[in-house]
Amino acid sequence: MSQYKFISTQPEKTTEFARRFAELLEPGDVIALEGDLGAGKTTFTKGLAEGLGITRNVNSPTFTIIKEYIGKMPLYHMDVYRVQSSDEDLGFGEYFEGEGVTVVEWAHLIEDQLPPQLLTIYLKHGENGSRVLTFEPSGERYESLCKELFK
Ligand code: ADP
Ligand code: MG
Repeated sequence: MSQYKFISTQPEKTTEFARRFAELLEPGDVIALEGDLGAGKTTFTKGLAEGLGITRNVNSPTFTIIKEYIGKMPLYHMDVYRVQSSDEDLGFGEYFEGEGVTVVEWAHLIEDQLPPQLLTIYLKHGENGSRVLTFEPSGERYESLCKELFK
C-alpha cells in the first residue's frame, strides 16, 4: 500500500496544505481522518473547507455528528467520536454517495459503513510540537490524487 508523508511544523502549515489538497477534490470523494484528540483533524478540515471556498467557520461537530457546508461543492464534515456503536446508522451512505466531499473524523469507529475506496489521513504528534500527516490511499482515484498532491 502506498504512503505519503507531510510534516507540519505549525497549524498554519496544516491549513495551507489542506487548502491545496482541496483544490484536487471532486464530488463524491471521501476522506477519513484518524488521530488522537488535538492531532489536527479539525484544523486540517478548516483548511480543506477554505480551499473549497467555504467562508463559514468550520469547527468540531462533536455534538452534531454531521455538519454540511456550502462551497464550490458541499462539504459534509462528520465527527463520529460519539457514535455509540459501529452499526448505528445515521444515513452516512447518502453523504458518501452525495454531490459533495465527505470528511470523517474518527472514521474507524464506523468502519463497517465506510466505502471500500477512500483516502485515510493519519495525524500524529511529531517532534517539537509538529504533526506528521500520513496519507494512505485506497483505490485508483485516491492513488492518483496523492500522486498529484505529492508530485
Ligand atoms: P483534532 O480535531 O484532531 O482533535 P484540532 O485540529 O481540533 O485536533 O486541534 C489541534 C490543536 O493542535 C490546535 O489547537 C492547533 O492549534 C494545534 N496545533 C499545533 N501544531 C499543529 C500543526 N502542525 N497542525 C495542526 N494543529 C496544530
Ligand atoms: Mg476534531
